[in-house]
Amino acid sequence: MKKINIAIDGPSAAGKSTIAKRLGAKLGYVHLDTGAMYRCTALKCVREGISLSDEQAVCDMLKQTKIELTPEGGVFMDGEDVSTAIRTDEISLAASKVSAHKNVRSDLVARQQEMAKAKGFIMDGRDIGTVVLKDAEVKIFMTASARARAERRYKQNIEKGIPTSDVETIAEEIRQRDYDDTHRANSPLRKADDAVEIDTSDMSIEEVVERIYQLAEPFLLKEE
Ligand code: C5P
Repeated sequence: MKKINIAIDGPSAAGKSTIAKRLGAKLGYVHLDTGAMYRCTALKCVREGISLSDEQAVCDMLKQTKIELTPEGGVFMDGEDVSTAIRTDEISLAASKVSAHKNVRSDLVARQQEMAKAKGFIMDGRDIGTVVLKDAEVKIFMTASARARAERRYKQNIEKGIPTSDVETIAEEIRQRDYDDTHRANSPLRKADDAVEIDTSDMSIEEVVERIYQLAEPFLLKEE
């Protein structure tokens, strides 16, 4: 079957990573969670006392930072497994702050484009369909109600053993990030003109995976 790239964008906790992982397994594709790269950047800033608003310092630090995303979903920063450390509420908000800087974005976007050069990737984030993989064959804009997203994130934290706040606090954090991500000057979160919007509030994981698979199928069956 022909290999393609699939871009999934949408607001925080809409289920992008969960869906991308499942779809990746179904298609034998690699899932790249670009949010993890902004989270690594934020984690290192917090650890090293670098101000999140000092774009130059963040960029200099980033030049010395290796970020690896394994096909199994592991996130490694300078060789350390930070898969859990990057998932706290503090780092979520810090990631949103560092991601607003133009030069931080251009560094990470270049890495993402390099990773997905060969086809066969499902990339999720905020600017994949609009910036990173403009030529992706399938573009999805995934949304869900604020309540559904907060409840899902809370459940996921408990299941994964990630230190969690209550649903209300998570809902507030998600609201804040949605606002920041859609109002920033550089690559704000928005639906690409050619993306298909899917509201997953009342859909099961399987239903969403199936819907995207159906959108991808005509491209997969196309002659090379
Ligand atoms: O997707 P996730 O919630 O892990 O992303 C954390 C933060 O990183 C987002 O709130 C957003 O500010 C930023 N981000 C981004 N562009 C991406 C992925 C994430 O700006 N492609």
